[in-house]
Amino acid sequence: MKIYIDGKYYDRKDAKISVFDHGLLYGDGIFEGIRIYNGKVFKLKEHIERLYQSAKAILLDMHMTEEEMGNAVLDAVNINKKKNGYIRLIVTRGEGPLGIDPTTCKKATVIIIVSDIQLYPDEYYKNGIEIITASSRRIPSDSLDPRIKSLNYLNNIMAKLEARHSGCLEAVMLNREGFVAECTGDNMFIVKNNELFTPAPFHGALDGITMRTVMEIAESLGIKTHEATLTRYDLYNAEECFMTGTGAEIIPVIKIDGRIIGDGEPMVVTKRLINAFKKLIMS
Ligand code: PMP
Repeated sequence: MKIYIDGKYYDRKDAKISVFDHGLLYGDGIFEGIRIYNGKVFKLKEHIERLYQSAKAILLDMHMTEEEMGNAVLDAVNINKKKNGYIRLIVTRGEGPLGIDPTTCKKATVIIIVSDIQLYPDEYYKNGIEIITASSRRIPSDSLDPRIKSLNYLNNIMAKLEARHSGCLEAVMLNREGFVAECTGDNMFIVKNNELFTPAPFHGALDGITMRTVMEIAESLGIKTHEATLTRYDLYNAEECFMTGTGAEIIPVIKIDGRIIGDGEPMVVTKRLINAFKKLIMS
């Protein structure tokens, strides 16, 4: 494995950054998780665009154009000879003195790791997953816009811990008002009357690239989609429910807080979308 750091490649054991990097010290940075399917980097343009939008929002000087960043990703994939896999693209504020002031950091650090990921066991994709609602609420959108894909995941990690402590692998997070935001690393969808509903980003959800892809697929299949305001009641009474994410892909949810969703197994709309998604990523 060859890891890209600031234009150079290192073996895994030599791929190191400074302990004074503000990405480590303060979580000051942004990232993208990207899939490689069948020798192609999936939705590269969208991921690079989102990265640069996150950078703009946190006033991070990228010192590389979007095109250069895209080419660096493609180069890292080629060097690692990966036909299927997962890319972690990270940009931190860079090295600086102690103290959070980002203006003291000289230059952003760019890291590209080309590896693999499996977030959930295969059986969950076939049979569906059980999740809980976490008591940890999503950071309010007016405090930290959820569209910024930042290195600050503690809020989500707290919810993940709650899931693990109750014997589940994933948790739904609500926003401060009690509306459904998203899961700890995935967007959330429900099916009601054969239409798709997902919480709008302003409720505290990342503007997911898989979420957008699934909405496009759904529309092309004649399934109406909505960015909506959802409560736990809506989840419990949904006909179907599933989560989406680059790492997770599409995973059916069959139980939430002990309530069985639909028939308690992956159902027709979810299965149609999973099949169409598989076709798309292999095309
Ligand atoms: N929400 C959160 C909090 C995430 O970290 C992610 C990505 N892992 C997602 C949603 C899904 O986004 P995407 O489909 O763009 O990977």
